[in-house]
Amino acid sequence: MEDRIMRKSMFYMLLASIAISCSLLYLPQFTVKANALISQYKSMREEARKREEMSALDLLRYHEQKINEEEKRSLKDAIRIYMVEGLKSEDVKMEVDYYKHTIKLLFPDTKEDILDKYPIVGSTDHIDDMKVTASGEGLHVELKTDQLVEPVVEKQDHYCYVRLKDPHDLYDKIIVVDAGHGGKMPGTVSGGVTEKAINLEIVRALKPYMDAEKEVKVYYTRLSDKHVELEDRAKLANELKADLFMSIHQNAVGYKFNNVKGTQVLYSQSDKTKKSRTFAKILLENITREVKSENKGLIPGDDIYIIRTAKMPVALVEVGFVTNKEEQEKLLSAKYQDQVAKVLHDSIMQALKEGL
Ligand SMILES: [Zn+2]
Repeated sequence: MEDRIMRKSMFYMLLASIAISCSLLYLPQFTVKANALISQYKSMREEARKREEMSALDLLRYHEQKINEEEKRSLKDAIRIYMVEGLKSEDVKMEVDYYKHTIKLLFPDTKEDILDKYPIVGSTDHIDDMKVTASGEGLHVELKTDQLVEPVVEKQDHYCYVRLKDPHDLYDKIIVVDAGHGGKMPGTVSGGVTEKAINLEIVRALKPYMDAEKEVKVYYTRLSDKHVELEDRAKLANELKADLFMSIHQNAVGYKFNNVKGTQVLYSQSDKTKKSRTFAKILLENITREVKSENKGLIPGDDIYIIRTAKMPVALVEVGFVTNKEEQEKLLSAKYQDQVAKVLHDSIMQALKEGL
């Protein structure tokens, strides 16, 4: 009986020692595999930690490296942001500052944690900086671009694509219209009337006429009573490589009301192509004929900053004299402003037709 127990235990001990020897044989391989898994896990955690510390732009760069060739093509010049159920492209609010090259986007009802599952991906080609923040309104995405771009928002599947386009890829012709002065710069002042206000009213009256021209895109230096530096006005036209640049002003002579009245148009005499003069001539002839203002002639205008620095046909229209009582009254009337606006529109269209 004891012998049997002895033999049995010897047998089990033998089995156990074989098992131990075998496992010892495989132990190194097991250890290698386990170590590999641990280091993989560690590097994933490390990457996740790094991503948490990354700026929105660094994250975009990180994801840009991971996208495949097909996605790369669809995301050329674009970034893609997930859109929550029910959100349409027209719900996305967009504010563009063409001077500062910034684009502010607001995705209503969108929470920041959606980005954990659907990060923003796309091309960083034109993006110098990106900020992503959340508020009670939704998700704010702010882009700073390296050049003037026109953002186009479109929805595809569950995503919003924000494409950063060269304006010339979108429009046949580009015009810059400038309402002179503004904000702390009133321009000429006569009898309590400021030039900046008349300039703005005329430009505002022009806008609906230009809006109706679908092949022509107009960028306005200002559409409100705000201050814009002269440098920025010219820079806008130059960066846009605008086809035409038109600035609206009012004239003055002396400080008291007097008899001098009429329309003058200034042009760039240093423009070798003479297109600036041709554009100015079209404007002067049309305005004086249509609103029956006195023709005060074409004036060389290189002394004026925006004329001197504009790299395209430029014309500065002095519509009338605020120092002439009769003309000031006309310039303040909505009817006259609209008549002038219509002639400005017709003149721009004529200039484009004539190949300027
Ligand atoms: Zn002026």
